[in-house]
Formats: sequence, structure tokens, C-alpha cells
Amino acid sequence: MGIRLSDGDLVCVIGGGPAGSFAALHLLTLMRARNLNLEVLLFEPRDFTKPGPGGCNRCAGILSSRLIRGLESLNIILPEELVQSRVEAYVLNLDGEAIRLEQPDRQRKILSVYRGSGPRISDNPDVKSFDQYLLDQASLLGAKLIRSRVRKVSWENRPVIHTAHESYKADLLILASGVNSRAPLDDEFGYSPPKTSIMAQDEILRPSTWPEDVVSAYFQRPAGLVFGALTPKGKYLNISLLGKGLTTDAINDFIEAQDLEASLGKEPISLCGCTPRIAIRPARTYFGNRWVAVGDAAVTRLYKDGIGSSFFTSQEAIKTALGSGISRSDFRKTYAKFCSKIARDNTYGGILYRLWSITLRAPVLLKIWRNIIQAEQEDRPEHRLWARFLWGMFTGDETYRNLFWLMFSPTSFLKIWNGLKNQIRNRTNS
Ligand SMILES: Cc1cc2nc3c(=O)[nH]c(=O)nc-3n(C[C@H](O)[C@H](O)[C@H](O)COP(=O)(O)OP(=O)(O)OC[C@H]3O[C@@H](n4cnc5c(N)ncnc54)[C@H](O)[C@@H]3O)c2cc1C
Repeated sequence: MGIRLSDGDLVCVIGGGPAGSFAALHLLTLMRARNLNLEVLLFEPRDFTKPGPGGCNRCAGILSSRLIRGLESLNIILPEELVQSRVEAYVLNLDGEAIRLEQPDRQRKILSVYRGSGPRISDNPDVKSFDQYLLDQASLLGAKLIRSRVRKVSWENRPVIHTAHESYKADLLILASGVNSRAPLDDEFGYSPPKTSIMAQDEILRPSTWPEDVVSAYFQRPAGLVFGALTPKGKYLNISLLGKGLTTDAINDFIEAQDLEASLGKEPISLCGCTPRIAIRPARTYFGNRWVAVGDAAVTRLYKDGIGSSFFTSQEAIKTALGSGISRSDFRKTYAKFCSKIARDNTYGGILYRLWSITLRAPVLLKIWRNIIQAEQEDRPEHRLWARFLWGMFTGDETYRNLFWLMFSPTSFLKIWNGLKNQIRNRTNS
């Protein structure tokens, strides 16, 4: 027989990052629509009003357009004071050349926010935290915030949540603890967390000449760098690096290797600094009877739009819990299918990132490809296939599957063929 939530039941959410707050918001909205009366407890020890890594869930803070639309569906319109910048363009810096990609669809907004309350060293005490804002929205709808770390979750016919001083018997447990701390579930839950990579991040003052609405991406240097992004956030610039074997001095190595001293100032001063983990593979066993993991703790889009994934995994988990039930088989039938779709899409993403890194290491390929992009600038915006491809790859605005088939479409091959012919023609002429 299935297990269903009923009036008076207790739902415990571990983690008050985006996934936890979204889960609470979806749950409180949907249960009201169904006239169901549940108690919702949200456990989060972090104080997001503190500046620096201690009050922050360490990320570049770019919000995708699909997430912004998702928030609107919950009647959440982000207040102006949260928005640090509106991203209008991405600039890809390749071998000293800058390729500018404009937002192809002006209706699709991309914003940057602070997850905490700004850099550790800051003269701006008014920076507002996105994560705190979401927590406040969940509290307003009726979630009760418990400012404690969950030390352990045991199983006694249902999940029992233990903090340092209290224990709570939950009818449903939602695990939203991300990937930057150990999940507190006992072994009998069988939860196996996602595989992760380590990134490096810092924040510096944004030079007055640096654009406030452009994300700049860099590749290739130093060795092992997959990509580095400079994201404007009000008067600051966030630097986020993803790569293999990043050293403790990765940010300085990056600034030096990319020759950025001149544009960022001779010695950009580190105002924050952290080395958070990013999920690169889904968790194994991420649901069971009366429990389900959401957000990074379950599955997220590869390298992009993790906050958006938190929104949509939470939404699906709650829809399953209230629509079908909270048994392992309920979650397997619907929620797992949704998560597998994200994981399958990441497989396409993995192939695209591998092709991208091969292109970056092959000067001839890179040149052909740069020529194609430049030639494309003459086309009408809607015909700029490679611009759309790159925009999708770097903003997370389109599924990797779509981008994969866009790249392997006849039009794309035709453009590559023409690029190759031009390259040969130019060589013969010179
Ligand atoms: C360098 C970097 C840059 C990124 N940039 C972006 C970006 O620009 N845009 C984007 O969309 N995504 C980005 N991401 C990904 C994004 O940070 C994550 O996908 C997102 O934070 C996941 O949200 P979450 O709620 O699942 O986990 P988290 O944000 O990690 O939140 C987990 C919460 O659970 C709490 N918690 C943990 N353990 C316990 C416990 N035992 N008891 C109680 N509470 C607990 C933590 O304190 C934390 O608040 C980036 C990631 C990295 C590493």
C-alpha cells in the first residue's frame, strides 16, 4: 500500500540553501491548494546575513532565465536590492581575441546576486543575500526555521532528525544539504552523494572601466583550466575557476596567465576566497520510503544553472510527494524519471565540453571555428547558429541535448565546411 501525507504530518527539510527553501515554498504552496495542513521545519545553521564564506553558499550567483520564470510561477519577483547586475552579454576570450555574444532573446533575463552578504572584506554592509531572501519567503508562507545543524538522521520506521539538543520524528524528510558538507543520513538510508570537483573563487573590486553587465569567460591558461569566469556583482567582480588540479594560488595564477593585471589593476586584492565543491555526477540512491534528496544533493545540471536545477528538482519531488505519495516506488516512478533526464542531458554536456577542450588544444580547429563565428556576425541574429550554441553552453539557457543536435545539424556542418574552405583559400593566397 502507498504512503501518503495527511493533516498534521511533519515534513523536515535539511538545508536552507536554494533547494531547501524551494522545496518548502513548493510544498507550502501546493499543500494549501490541496487543503492539506502540514508542519514544515527547515534546518539551516548558516547565517546568510554575515559577509564572507561563513555566511555564503559559495557560488558565482548567476540566475538563469528559466529560474527567474520559475520564481515568477511562485509569485516571487526578486526585489531590486538583491540584483547585483543584469547580464546582457558574454565575452569569450580566446588567444587574445574577444568574441562577444549578445543575449539572443531580450525577454530572457539573466541576473547576478549574492548568495551571502557580500565579500569577507567589504565596505558595503548593505549587500542583501539571495539565500536569506528565499528563507524569508519560506518562513512567510509558514515554514519554521530551526537554526541548527542536523547531526544525524536515524531510521525508526520513519526518519528521525537529531540536532545537538532535539530529535524530530519526520513523516517526510527532504535532504537539501548540497555537496559542501557530509550528508547526515545513517548508512541504512543507502544514500551515496554525487561525485564532485573542486573550484576556486574570489572577489575583487570591479575596476571603473570594467563593464557592469558582461560576464567574461577565459580558457586554456593556466594549464588544467576548463573555464574561468569574471561575473560583475555591483561594485565587485566575482572570479570563479573550474579546472583540474587548481592550486591554492589558482586565482593569482589565472590573473597572471591571462595577462589580466593591466585591466584589473596591478595587484587585485583578494576580498574573499574559497574552494567550494561542484557536483558533476548524480547521487546514487537519492530517495526511499519517506525521504527524498533535492538540489545538488540529488542531481544538478553539469557546470550550469545549479540554482535552477534546485528549483526544478524540488518542484518535481514535491509534486510526487503530494500527487502520488512518499514511498520509494512513488519517487521511483516519477521523480527519478525527471532526475534521470537531467543526468542524461549532462551526458550530452560532457561530450560537448570534451569537444570544446579538444578544439581549444588544436590551433587549426580553433582558428576555423573563430572564423565561422566572425563570419556569422553578418547573418541575421536568428541565423547565428554558433552564437546560439555558445550562449546556451555558457549560460545554461538551453538543454545540452538541444545544443548537441544544433552542433551536429546539417547547417552547422555546412558552416564548418565553408570555414575550412576559407581557411585553405586564405592560406593559398598568403
Ligand atoms: C564556484 C561555483 C560557482 C557556481 N556558480 C553558479 C552560478 O553562477 N549559478 C548557479 O545557478 N549555480 C552555480 N553554482 C552551483 C550552485 O552553487 C549550486 O548548484 C546550488 O547552491 C545548489 O543549491 P543547494 O540548496 O542544493 O545546495 P547549497 O547551496 O550547498 O545549500 C545547502 C545548504 O544546506 C545546509 N546544510 C548542509 N548540511 C546541513 C546539515 N547537516 N544540517 C542543516 N543544514 C545543512 C548548508 O549550510 C547550506 O545552506 C556554482 C557552484 C560553484 C562551486
